[in-house]
Amino acid sequence: MNFSDFEPVIGLEVHAELKTATKIFCACPTAFGAPPNTLCCPVCLGLPGALPTLNRRAVELAVRAGLALNCEIATLSRTDRKQYFYPDLPKAYQISQDPYPLCFDGGLSVGNGERERYVGITRIHIEEDAGKLIHTRNQTLIDCNRCGVPLIEIVTAPELHSAEDAGDFLRALRQILVTCGVSDCKMQEGSLRCDVNISLRKKGSNEFGTRVEIKNINSFAFVEKAIAYEARRQFDILAKGGDLQAETRRYNASTGKTELMRAKERAEDYRYLAEPDLPALSLSREDINAIAKALPELPRAKAARLTRAYGIVKADAEIIVSDPSLASYFEYAATYTEHPILLTGLLLTELLRYCHSDPFDPPVKAERIAEIATMLGEGTVNSTTAKKLVTRLVDGDFDPRATVETEGLAQIRDRETIMRTVNETLCENQKAVADYKNGKTAALRALQGHAMAKTKGLADPVLLEEIFKEVLSE
Ligand code: ADP
Ligand code: MG
Ligand code: ZN
Repeated sequence: MNFSDFEPVIGLEVHAELKTATKIFCACPTAFGAPPNTLCCPVCLGLPGALPTLNRRAVELAVRAGLALNCEIATLSRTDRKQYFYPDLPKAYQISQDPYPLCFDGGLSVGNGERERYVGITRIHIEEDAGKLIHTRNQTLIDCNRCGVPLIEIVTAPELHSAEDAGDFLRALRQILVTCGVSDCKMQEGSLRCDVNISLRKKGSNEFGTRVEIKNINSFAFVEKAIAYEARRQFDILAKGGDLQAETRRYNASTGKTELMRAKERAEDYRYLAEPDLPALSLSREDINAIAKALPELPRAKAARLTRAYGIVKADAEIIVSDPSLASYFEYAATYTEHPILLTGLLLTELLRYCHSDPFDPPVKAERIAEIATMLGEGTVNSTTAKKLVTRLVDGDFDPRATVETEGLAQIRDRETIMRTVNETLCENQKAVADYKNGKTAALRALQGHAMAKTKGLADPVLLEEIFKEVLSE
């Protein structure tokens, strides 16, 4: 048996916290990082007699996600009680949705080029989050602030077949949810978490193997690593003639392995029942249409439009749309220049080196970087100067065009000046000249470097190279 004769079959269950101000069934704030147990009330703690009321905004955001992910939206759905005891769930049940989810039958295109594929989304339902356990050396503490934070759970069809597919899906999904303002998707704060279901099957087969569920992975890199490890582990069992168990495992980031948590619960174990404290959830077509109308432009459509409108390459457009704040910064800056391609270059290769915040928080005014792109496009400055100006703007604002003037940073494009510099350089670097004439083409780079330094980095690099070649071939 060969590992390469098998393919993984993967389905994801993604939990995203909705960006509401208050919890799903009470008015407690959803803020992250507050002192433990300060954002709780009888409703989110599930004290006897407390009654939930559904947060309208949570439903709107879930519908928005459903529409952006090409789902049908149920005009009639309901909430269900999923009973299980867990120390971070004081109610001993979670309000979720079982047979009638709010959104169903959707999907999205993920990946680029050869890896582009459509992945089905079986359902999206709303539910409440549980609290958090904090394990110290000799005790376990509970923080209930997260109890009742609204979540959507997005369940994919088992249509992903590699760690890369799963990564592509999660990246595309995150972009959409962030763009639509549905969720912050901050994995480090737990606002996006993923369960991975994975089984193996012989390539070409249509049957499904026994699946293992890996719970609550909180980074895309770990999702990919967990899949790689688990596929191998399952193969090793099958290769020895063993049987796989349907089980729930966890990924241990420090060992890179998955570990057994428990045998898989079955739906019966949860004793689902229609939530008696909440009425059925009914949405009119008008409600749904109003939410659809307010949907922003989605990342794929936006990337296609940027590619068309500005002539930038698709890969760059995809980076730009991956963060809505970056995209709006780019589009705003583009209104100030006729050189969007140069603008893109300065933005992606220079400016982004200085910003690591998520979402993008511009360290330089859009007008400024646009002005530099314009000067670069006109030939007023060369690209070295343009990059230096961007770097300087990160430290503090100034008018780049005026600075180029006052500091004499304009590009030198005068043939005679450059010719003089080239001749001087050749005289002073006889060895490099000899090397070049003996076929060492790298020597030309060194000569260009010397000449560039003589002009304090201001020469037009294209013209400089041209003149060097001209003179050297004489
Ligand atoms: P459950 O309710 O028990 O969690 P679901 O039918 O809702 O099961 O499926 C949960 C996830 O498991 C879905 O993402 C689905 O695509 C995936 N899945 C189902 N069967 C398989 C399988 N044989 N291999 C891999 N993933 C699977
Ligand atoms: Mg499940
Ligand atoms: Zn509350």
